[in-house]
Amino acid sequence: MITSVKGFNDILPDQALKYRKVEEEARAVLEAFGFSEIRLPIAERLELFQRGIGASTDIVEKEMYTFQDRKGTLLALRPEGTAPVVRAYIEHGLYHRDPVAKLYYMGPMFRYERPQKGRTRQFYQIGAEVLGVEDPRLDAEILDMVTLLFDRLGIEDVELFINSLGCEVCRPSYRQALLEYLKGKEEGLCRDCKRRLGTNPLRVLDCKVEGCREVTARAPEIMGFLCNPCREHFEEVKGHLALLGVPYGIDPRMVRGLDYYTKTAFEMICKRLGAQNAVAAGGRYDRLVKDLGGPDTPGFGFAIGVERTVLLLKDREEEILPEAYIISLGREASSESLRLLKELRMEGIRTELSYGERSLKAHMRRANKLGVAHVLIIGEEELKKGTVVLKDMEKGIQEEIRRDRVVSILKGRVEAVGV
Ligand code: ATP
Ligand code: MG
Repeated sequence: MITSVKGFNDILPDQALKYRKVEEEARAVLEAFGFSEIRLPIAERLELFQRGIGASTDIVEKEMYTFQDRKGTLLALRPEGTAPVVRAYIEHGLYHRDPVAKLYYMGPMFRYERPQKGRTRQFYQIGAEVLGVEDPRLDAEILDMVTLLFDRLGIEDVELFINSLGCEVCRPSYRQALLEYLKGKEEGLCRDCKRRLGTNPLRVLDCKVEGCREVTARAPEIMGFLCNPCREHFEEVKGHLALLGVPYGIDPRMVRGLDYYTKTAFEMICKRLGAQNAVAAGGRYDRLVKDLGGPDTPGFGFAIGVERTVLLLKDREEEILPEAYIISLGREASSESLRLLKELRMEGIRTELSYGERSLKAHMRRANKLGVAHVLIIGEEELKKGTVVLKDMEKGIQEEIRRDRVVSILKGRVEAVGV
């Protein structure tokens, strides 16, 4: 037997319905907030992520699926969506069309991580990016939108945490202070963090290893190091969140795993998820567009993890059931049933057919299993008389109706979906 690849999961129909629900709600909310969809390729040049996300991030150092195509070009399966959106924004000169671009995407991302609950190697994200707005009202607007989306999905126990990561003016002084604090404490850090000291010391704050958490428990907080513009920006975001009635907490240790963030960073956390508890994350990235060769343009974006969101959905019966089921008995009736099937479907009535020559009892068993509300039976007798037997499965009532009235009678009883 050929099996699927580790960390690359099948999403079977009952799960797929949940994914679709999340995607549909997200589309509705994003479009109400003025976002347009952009569809991007699955593979990009490796360089885009190395430069965009940062060479010393976990994603670029050890999580990417990279390969050479037949011409030797180095490619990567996209591990995230922000760098590709920014690449497309620059490549197509979208800033010429409108000084503000609001784009959203949904689709699979790929990271070579250890698969576990809420963590797969192919996973789905729904993300959105706003390019061209520095105004802190935007940060609050987007955080309000993400909060609203989880509300609409009926997920009430997600919590929003924010932090500021400063900018290229103030972050270096914080980095320095953090390094000084960590001096002499290196022994208590895990191997990864020892390495991070030389490359990306802020990431030490984000480490989940208990020893590292102890070492950094009293580390200085970035808040005390923010420059005036960053501090003001953060104060304004907090004020606007209060005005919009968006509940939030401040997590002064949150640093995010991607290098491009500046100023506001955020995470949406749900305790029910266990160790991998972030369902959505994002923030401001005021240098990324320029770093990738575009005009100096501020950005703000986020991504929602669809797997983890699906784990949080309440178990509701989301099945799409057929409404009618046609049973034919005998050869001639079987042709008639195909004709009736088409007529009903053209009217938007979800209809299934009984296949194969089986007994009425066997056909009824399948109809029951499918959970259909109406069964239509055509036998030799009915065919001759020009009638059909209609059985209402809920009420247990059976009646004989005229063949030419079947469609209109059923239309009156079911909610048509349209084809
Ligand atoms: P994590 O907390 O899992 O390390 P991250 O900081 O790497 O997340 P981002 O790159 O910000 O995550 O991605 C945004 C969201 O995408 C995460 O909050 C999470 O819900 C989801 N996500 C990230 N990696 C995975 C994965 N390997 N499998 C499933 N979902 C993921
Ligand atoms: Mg990660």
